[in-house]
Amino acid sequence: MYDDCATTPQHILQDVFGHSTFRSPQQQIVAHLLNCQHALVIMPTGMGKSLCYQIPALCLAAEHKRKVTASAGTATNNPAPLSVVLSPLIALMKDQVDSLRARHIAATYINSSLRAREREQRYSDIGNGKYDLLYVTPERFRKSEFLSVLQRREILLLAVDEAHCISEWGHDFRPDYTRVDQIRKRLNNPTTIALTATATPDVQTDIIRQLGLDREQIALFHEGIDRPNLRLSVHTVWSDDEKLDHLIGLRRRQQQRGIAYFTLIKTLERFSDTLLQQKIPHLIYHGELPREQRKKLQERFMNEPDTLVLATNAFGMGIDKEDIRFVLHVDLPGSLESYYQEIGRAGRDGQPSECVLLYDQRDLATQMEFIHWSNPDADFYDRLFHVLVHDREKIDAFGMDWLREKIHHRQKHDHRLDTALSMLERYGAIEGSLSPLDVRVTGPLPSNLQDAEYLEEKLLRDQKKLYALVEYVQHEGDRKAFLHAYFGLPYHSNANESPT
Ligand code: ADP
Ligand code: MG
Repeated sequence: MYDDCATTPQHILQDVFGHSTFRSPQQQIVAHLLNCQHALVIMPTGMGKSLCYQIPALCLAAEHKRKVTASAGTATNNPAPLSVVLSPLIALMKDQVDSLRARHIAATYINSSLRAREREQRYSDIGNGKYDLLYVTPERFRKSEFLSVLQRREILLLAVDEAHCISEWGHDFRPDYTRVDQIRKRLNNPTTIALTATATPDVQTDIIRQLGLDREQIALFHEGIDRPNLRLSVHTVWSDDEKLDHLIGLRRRQQQRGIAYFTLIKTLERFSDTLLQQKIPHLIYHGELPREQRKKLQERFMNEPDTLVLATNAFGMGIDKEDIRFVLHVDLPGSLESYYQEIGRAGRDGQPSECVLLYDQRDLATQMEFIHWSNPDADFYDRLFHVLVHDREKIDAFGMDWLREKIHHRQKHDHRLDTALSMLERYGAIEGSLSPLDVRVTGPLPSNLQDAEYLEEKLLRDQKKLYALVEYVQHEGDRKAFLHAYFGLPYHSNANESPT
């Protein structure tokens, strides 16, 4: 157990987490929650959102233990309150919990990766009060067994991490997150904090609505994008050669750590070959590399000086390096949300840093194709679902290749199938493994996925997002003003102070 003296946020920050000071809005957010008020926190990745709920969770538990000690055993044996963290990211949960446990924090997690016996043991431990902090996926709230375990605990704090997944308008939409208002009611309306790295005003409104709250009931903590040390520029180019010149030029000017983002792995590899020929050292990072190798590359990037990495957007989570001097977008990113996230990795140390976006009109076609792939229409879902139900044996025998051929015919590079399968899984209509494909149908075709109007609205939203990016590219005024307006933030130009 952590030090019993550590009951104030400041003590917990120092004694448990080993940090000397709060980063700017953390302290206010912690105080706000401890005052039983809800919060929506928008803060770039890597800035420390987790502490905003972990510290209040530990304060609540410590306060309970203090009371029990003070009453010298005359108090009841109720366990300390439990804080619940909802997260859709199964892959990160174990690491998050391991790092808390390394700090002697009584944390655990429940998700589909646990075997039955382990899960039952955790259920029983949770019910008995062994843990103060529980990470769990929203899907878990479908299980009555889990709900009855929670009934045995008092829940004063609910954190909804990656809250943009609640919003129907994001790529990461999780249908189970739309039940968060029911989950909140079931938990007796605990103080709630929703956290995300980016959310436009539309998405903010959607998040608040899905939490079952009114705007006045929840305070917005929006960590602005006011980074005077970042210099933003856009260059129109007409060929890959020009892109390469920019990359090499930037590398030469800024002989230091930098990231070059690519949309397609094959372009990334082509650029990498050319750099190798020119003996320009660099690392490459993308989602198709084995997990172990990605981990090693990430470590090298963090530890070696002067490292250039060519990466897809798979690179970034957990990149907590302060001295990244440039972020170059070799290709047009998919939205201003992801652009803003990616440039946010530059210059965390406050030193001048460059963020360069290259715009080749042809990149627009690639992004439009992505939008097409991520928005199958009602007819597509219908056709796929029919095959899943009626051709089970063939799918079992011949797998994804057969299914792709059946659905897409010759268009092997059409990825609507991947999107549709993952949406069906998120809605609970199918269960099992998507790769290698081994799924069974477990529910009806979800009504949203048959609703042409709903699906078209989603498509339109995605197109508008891309359009906003094109407007940004063509914008002739202050680029930071444009970004602030897009994210609904007030803006005070500091053009006079910023480095040129
Ligand atoms: P986010 O969820 O916003 O992406 P995390 O909560 O995962 O970010 O934190 C990112 C990193 O920042 C972690 O390594 C964490 O230890 C560190 N960190 C958070 N708050 C502080 C602080 N006040 N002082 C120093 N480091 C901090
Ligand atoms: Mg986080």
